[in-house]
Amino acid sequence: MTIFPRHKWIEHSVVAGGFGFLVFALVSRTRSIPLAAGVSLGVAVMLIALFQEKYIRRFLLLKHPFPESWRRILVDRVRFYRLLSPEDRIRFEQDVMVFLSEQRIYGIRGQAVAEDIRVVIAASAATLGFGIESWEWPTMRDILVYPTGFDEDYSIDRSHHLTGIVHQQGPVIFSEEDLKMGYYASQTGYNVGLHEMAHVLDMADGAADGIPPGLSWMATAPWIRVMADRMQKLRKGECRKVLREYAGVNEAEFFAVAVEVFFEKPHILAESDPELFNLMRGYFRIDPRAPSRSP
Ligand SMILES: [Zn+2]
Repeated sequence: MTIFPRHKWIEHSVVAGGFGFLVFALVSRTRSIPLAAGVSLGVAVMLIALFQEKYIRRFLLLKHPFPESWRRILVDRVRFYRLLSPEDRIRFEQDVMVFLSEQRIYGIRGQAVAEDIRVVIAASAATLGFGIESWEWPTMRDILVYPTGFDEDYSIDRSHHLTGIVHQQGPVIFSEEDLKMGYYASQTGYNVGLHEMAHVLDMADGAADGIPPGLSWMATAPWIRVMADRMQKLRKGECRKVLREYAGVNEAEFFAVAVEVFFEKPHILAESDPELFNLMRGYFRIDPRAPSRSP
């Protein structure tokens, strides 16, 4: 993830510079050149500060130390974080801090959500965005945490019919019990945090089609071919050694399940389906087997 996107800085500077120039042209008609220059410079600086407000807030936020209790949660619960080098851990922690300061996370009655749950939700987003340096996580719709699974009417359903859901325009919903199952059990390949964040990523270009945003045109054709082939096999009862049956439901679910397996069981995916693994590695620009090394 990127915390300070350079293209935004350039974009904002160009717009502010343009306004500044306009102000200079207008003021210099009736006032002295130094005065016009001062006023236009002031306007440009004010506009940049206004446009960059979010990034200035991030800059000030990151002046604070990363909370030790959050670090303990990451060490205890997040395998991906544990594999990172000390430098990369700092980058991951910054992503977690920014995510938690900008996203609204609350329980079904508006109550506060436990610290460990908030941190693993942020860690899910930070994991997916870690290798994609140009990616800025969108400020999402609200993130709602149910105590357990729920049904289509959003009523508590202990049979765990739904463990999480992402609406195109609405909130992202997680079951706390299932989030814990993903992060507290060891490498089951099931992780609702990564799964729902993969849907958010997939939908960032407006379509839940299993083709994530920013996939290069060179990679798109093989991606579609591999996805269609594996889904067909899953529906025929094949290819289930590593991808669970649910991945065959549609393209969006295929992508979300493949993301879970890519980050949770990378060695098994690389061994059993190197073609899919390499496509995922190319997109996420990371090898989750050793994430601190270049893929
Ligand atoms: Zn799903």
